[in-house]
Amino acid sequence: MPLISIVVPCYNEQESLPIFLKELDGVVRIMTRQDPGISFEAVLIDDGSADKTLAVMKAEAAAAHPYAIRWHSFSRNFGKEAALLAGLQHAKGDYVATMDADMQDPPSLLPQMYEILQTEDYDNVATRRTTREGEPPIRSFCARMFYKIINRISKADIVDGARDFRLMKRPMVNAIISMGEYNRFSKGIYGWVGFKTK
Ligand code: UDP
Ligand code: MG
Repeated sequence: MPLISIVVPCYNEQESLPIFLKELDGVVRIMTRQDPGISFEAVLIDDGSADKTLAVMKAEAAAAHPYAIRWHSFSRNFGKEAALLAGLQHAKGDYVATMDADMQDPPSLLPQMYEILQTEDYDNVATRRTTREGEPPIRSFCARMFYKIINRISKADIVDGARDFRLMKRPMVNAIISMGEYNRFSKGIYGWVGFKTK
């Protein structure tokens, strides 16, 4: 009876969150129809939002979804990395996915990611963007330079265009939350802890 946790850091996502959860509803229904043994939970972290994100979370937690919704709210804005860590610490799943609330990490990829962890010998499935189309050129340039430099100075292998959208098995999650860094850089930590990544 595997449980899959979906961890979502949210900062001022009052508009996106209901759209995201609705999309997730559909994906969860598809996956539980294929395999009635699996269940889901959503772990929402309000990172000190200035809008109505927390009120939206409470309303969504009380509404009907094909999974339980639990939420935690920060006393102020601490940043995405802190919100991700809090989400991982509170997730109970045998599998844990981290994803953005703004639909830049499409929930429709989850079935394929879960399937890979069932059939192939990996500890986690990670995603990356293959194009920077539509991004301001200055941001693309800075991002490319960042990956070039970080991979030269660091032993942790950080893939250009890597996103924080991934699905991990429990042992990898435990390794990540065991690290006590305050100023976290998840894309570095994912690589540093080892494990097999597709
Ligand atoms: N986020 C957060 N705290 C912050 C900034 C962002 O929890 O201080 C969340 C945000 O709500 C979203 C994810 O992190 O779910 C990615 O944020 P954003 O879309 O702003 O980042 P980008 O797409 O520019 O990388
Ligand atoms: Mg975004």
